[in-house]
Amino acid sequence: MIQPDLADPLTGQFWQSAREGKLQVSWCGTCDQAVWYPRACCNICGGTLYWQTLSGQGTLIAWSEVTGSLNPDFNGPYLTGLVSPREAPYIRLVTQLVDCRARDLCCDMAVAVRFRELQPRRGAAFVAPVFTPDIR
Ligand SMILES: [Zn+2]
Repeated sequence: MIQPDLADPLTGQFWQSAREGKLQVSWCGTCDQAVWYPRACCNICGGTLYWQTLSGQGTLIAWSEVTGSLNPDFNGPYLTGLVSPREAPYIRLVTQLVDCRARDLCCDMAVAVRFRELQPRRGAAFVAPVFTPDIR
């Protein structure tokens, strides 16, 4: 079952910030770069991490359309993707792509964050950052 734990010391802040409409990633205060996934300390220098709020703009790296029941808590079809945030293009966020079709997507296209409440079959609904093509 997918159920974010807002009290989890490593990942709780990510989910709490999503509830507040913010996209945050863990960031090293010493080497000044994103550290993703969240860890107890920086995997490069051992420095202390804090939560950095990002703009929510990014680049679509890859995607896939899930048509079956890959995860028993979420029925397909839906689009899943890898997004690199503008401020940290060297990391990948695993996310869902919304308000678009697979045929609308292309590599390196600009995407922007949205926040959606997801309802798994079991457990409580939760807010997650998702992305959509950023057509301006
Ligand atoms: Zn560091």
